[in-house]
Amino acid sequence: MRVCRLALASALAMICSDGVAAKEATADARRIHEEAMVLDTHLDTPANFRRPGWSIADNHEHEGDLSQVDLPRMKAGGLDGGFWVIYTAQGARDDAGKRAARDHGLDRLVSIHKMLAANADEMELALTADDAERIASAGKRVSFISMENAAPLASDPTLLTAYHRLGLRMMGVTHVRNNDFGDSSTDPAGPEWKGLSPAGRALVEQANRLGIVLDASHASDAVFDQLLALSKAPIVLSHTSADAIYDHPRNIDDARLRQLAAKGGVIHVNAFGGYLVNITKIPEREAAMDALAEKYGPESQLPVARVPAYLAERRVIEERFPMKRATFDDYMRHLLHILKVAGVDHVGIGADWDGGGGVAGMEDVSALPRITEALLTAGYTEQEVRKIWSGNLLRVIREAQAVASARR
Ligand SMILES: [Zn+2]
Repeated sequence: MRVCRLALASALAMICSDGVAAKEATADARRIHEEAMVLDTHLDTPANFRRPGWSIADNHEHEGDLSQVDLPRMKAGGLDGGFWVIYTAQGARDDAGKRAARDHGLDRLVSIHKMLAANADEMELALTADDAERIASAGKRVSFISMENAAPLASDPTLLTAYHRLGLRMMGVTHVRNNDFGDSSTDPAGPEWKGLSPAGRALVEQANRLGIVLDASHASDAVFDQLLALSKAPIVLSHTSADAIYDHPRNIDDARLRQLAAKGGVIHVNAFGGYLVNITKIPEREAAMDALAEKYGPESQLPVARVPAYLAERRVIEERFPMKRATFDDYMRHLLHILKVAGVDHVGIGADWDGGGGVAGMEDVSALPRITEALLTAGYTEQEVRKIWSGNLLRVIREAQAVASARR
């Protein structure tokens, strides 16, 4: 939300690395985008914070190191901030696994605070909707904290109080596997708890008492239904797309979208290609990528100095086994459908940046003005665009905190 006017010529054409022409947003769309508070509910960028040689203050290129969010690109794309995610991969659920998840979660929380402290003149921790407005007005990046997968709490769910004191304001129950709190939408073993476990139900109560927004992304439909029924505050989907456009267990159906809206909740639409369109996996490509991952380790931990060699090998595999990619138009099909079904008061953006999100024509956050332009072209007003970019989210945060105050 910079208060300035960019003298950009309209309709500049850029050709992206994938050969897709990305039209620069028109000057009018750009102005509306800059003046709105633009927040994304699912920024997986903390995965890069421990990466040797990587700093959020530096200007990176997606084609250079595969990252999608840094301060220069947030400014270029008019992204005022959002939720930095404490993501934990679901590991073993024995005592050692629970301790490992606890330590990982705390380490990631610390890494977010260290990043904020190192960039205090540009970014600030947000605890409330009022904080978000004040921070964005000052020209700084609004930094909320969320958790994806409650596994770090499995050894001691009362840790949620400590997380809340250290800034946590949104909480997703599961990731791609079932955990001690509930069922995932994508566990190959199928449901284990028929929704939430007893510990999961207690977690809902605790989150409501603290004013932490509950997030049903990745959770099974039964968990979604039970969160909606049990939570005293509206819930969100922080990064989810539409079943009606591409039927996938990770997406949500129209009936549930209407139920979410009826309870005041908000769905933030995901830009994860594999959930937007049907992408047939190529076994030879998968095997080659697995071998590459084995050789270099996870992308999020790749030292910057090793990236060129890694990318060169990756490109050879991609050229040998080319695979279909979701496009910006595919993303907009999901977003416009969800807007039609849930209504403009119940939709936001959570594109899964640095967590697998991004489509041909919108590779990183610098391309976000394209969404504003496409919404205006589809007939949404400036005021509606502002709701989608943050107004709806801030309403839910306010309501969750009002519920908490009333229960104290
Ligand atoms: Zn996710």
